[in-house]
Amino acid sequence: MERRDFLKIFSIGTVAAMSGQIAHRTVGKPGSAPLAGGYLEDVNTSTQELASSIEYMSTPAPRAADFLRAFTGEIMPEDTPILATTASPNRELYLDKYLAKMADYENAHLEDVYLEHERYPVLISTFKRLDRVQNLVGHGNFNVVSFDEMLKYGSRYSSVGEFTQIEINFLEELFFANARHYGFLGDKVITEISAPVPERDRKKVDRTGHFLYRGKSEALYSQLQKDLGRSIVLTSGIRSVVKQSHLFLAKTIQSKGNLSQASRSLAPPGHSYHGIGDFDVGKVGFGRKNFTEAFATTDEFKRLVDLGYVDIRYPRANMFGVRYEPWHIKVV
Ligand SMILES: [Zn+2]
Repeated sequence: MERRDFLKIFSIGTVAAMSGQIAHRTVGKPGSAPLAGGYLEDVNTSTQELASSIEYMSTPAPRAADFLRAFTGEIMPEDTPILATTASPNRELYLDKYLAKMADYENAHLEDVYLEHERYPVLISTFKRLDRVQNLVGHGNFNVVSFDEMLKYGSRYSSVGEFTQIEINFLEELFFANARHYGFLGDKVITEISAPVPERDRKKVDRTGHFLYRGKSEALYSQLQKDLGRSIVLTSGIRSVVKQSHLFLAKTIQSKGNLSQASRSLAPPGHSYHGIGDFDVGKVGFGRKNFTEAFATTDEFKRLVDLGYVDIRYPRANMFGVRYEPWHIKVV
């Protein structure tokens, strides 16, 4: 697939471009109220909030100032390692702001980067079409749908409908965008948008609706179950580019177009280690609290730590632009 120019789509302003008056205003609406259960891991769990966010985003264009994109290139130079040891006058300032923002990851912040308002319709139509693919193939199978398979489902099934060129371009732009522009600092782990999850390489895990890669991931999970017993369960395994895109679009809608806010709690497409072997576990019966910090208070989590399973991908105060995720098991 052709690589597209991120800037055409996610245009970015600078703080310097903001007038004094505007600079004191909050950019965009304050973040949406946290979901009842905390974190949105799967869009299936937040239909109601998504519906109201979609409604909000479908209303007439808000004042331009509400959607000023203010990326502080000055404070966080694009290609500068954030924790570079060389002294920088901006480093401390950046760190303070960064940590404050991550502690309050669920809300909008001044420097946050928003999707252009003109892009809301395609954001919503793409999300809804992906939703229809998910309904067609089922939640479990949707985890491993590749980009090409997604397109085929669109053209073959009228219940989904063909992906429009604008929707395809949008998904490509999102995938090829430099996520650093909106504040996500983790690695890109999948570089091919059409990367498949071959059947021979994956295994569906009974009673979970999720898949694991054969080999290391599968072995680690079965060892973990042997050690911890049946009170621990896989809550999210392999996530294809398509699955991650669907989750990220849902999160972007939930964040009212705020890409930075979305990426503070969910890795953008191509950046999730779920694409290459990591997985999430939870306590049986703990529901959506498994995706909140409450998981770190459970006996299951303590045992995971004691047994040495927990090498946290996104620890507290990490520098990847992602909040703390105690439930995520690092495999890769
Ligand atoms: Zn995870």
